[in-house]
Amino acid sequence: MGEYTTFECRQCGYKAERIRWGVGVYDPRQRFMPGYCVECGSIVEVDMTGADIHVDEFRCATCDSELFFLEKANSYTCPRCKAQDMLLRQGEYW
Ligand SMILES: [Zn+2]
Ligand SMILES: [Zn+2]
Repeated sequence: MGEYTTFECRQCGYKAERIRWGVGVYDPRQRFMPGYCVECGSIVEVDMTGADIHVDEFRCATCDSELFFLEKANSYTCPRCKAQDMLLRQGEYW
């Protein structure tokens, strides 16, 4: 199941837009993950539907640079200030 996820930095106040994370509740073919764009300094939603994480390249919709995926971890690095003090909130299912 997928959850709407928000990332918020406790240091600088950076807040990512709501990101779908996981597999769709209503359509299990749909899959999204949070990605990290170094160029933009932001966390963005990546559409993984029908994609192979090991084969495909994922690019930022804004600046076209390569995205890195966020792993499940205790602390996330803020794309703006690099503090490892990101608050992760998971809300409703999508
Ligand atoms: Zn920050
Ligand atoms: Zn970008």
